[in-house]
Amino acid sequence: MLQIEQFICRSDNFCVLVHDPETGRTASIDAPDAMEIHTVLLDKGWTLTDIMVTHHHGDHTAGIMALKLKFGCQVVGPKGEADKIPGLDEALSEGDVFSFGAYDFDVLETPGHTAGHIVYHSAKAGLLFAGDTLFSLGCGRLFERGPAEMWGSLGKLKALPGETMLYCGHEYTLSNARFAVTVDPDNDALQKRAAEVEALRAGDAWTLPVPLSVEFATNPFLRADDPAIRAHLGMEDASDEDVFAEIRKRKDNF
Ligand code: ZN
Ligand code: FE
Repeated sequence: MLQIEQFICRSDNFCVLVHDPETGRTASIDAPDAMEIHTVLLDKGWTLTDIMVTHHHGDHTAGIMALKLKFGCQVVGPKGEADKIPGLDEALSEGDVFSFGAYDFDVLETPGHTAGHIVYHSAKAGLLFAGDTLFSLGCGRLFERGPAEMWGSLGKLKALPGETMLYCGHEYTLSNARFAVTVDPDNDALQKRAAEVEALRAGDAWTLPVPLSVEFATNPFLRADDPAIRAHLGMEDASDEDVFAEIRKRKDNF
């Protein structure tokens, strides 16, 4: 079984460390902050062997070079933005498999937040590391690609097994929940998750990881094809891409 350590740094970035006791390998999903990650590694007695980068933004790559210098770890990340990622050793694209001990992680390209963004999915471990593509009750802002491409990217994640545990780049769930109920007010599963999120954050607890099945039932950005949301927005006849674009636009202005 993989061991996972999740903590917050840089105010709202999740750091996620994955440790395989069989092989002794430890991967960091992105590298928001080298010092914070180093401290947790020391505390756990783990040696960093890999960094799995999702996209080029500084809040995900700032710690790469310092960690590489310290541990000599290998850095894998998206081929589509390889020139923007310091220290990259291996560039990955759609269909590539990153093997981590006995666990394979499939690489999916999810353009939208950035043009070359990738996510890592292990069917065997039941894990999805989604970076800034999918958040709990939200999705990444569309900085480098448009809504149609992002809707396609999210479609790939909707096809993954519901029991997959979602880990993502940021603890944004509380503000996402407060927005989500405005576009999908009659969704009981969403109301329940929103109440849970309010309680978790009030107690300073994290809202991730969460099973994808919960996101499928509650995350409006995965549900642009949902009749109740479309009716609420008065967009019954619009395309899914247009409904998604409208939800994204409302969130940007929320
Ligand atoms: Zn980002
Ligand atoms: Fe980010």
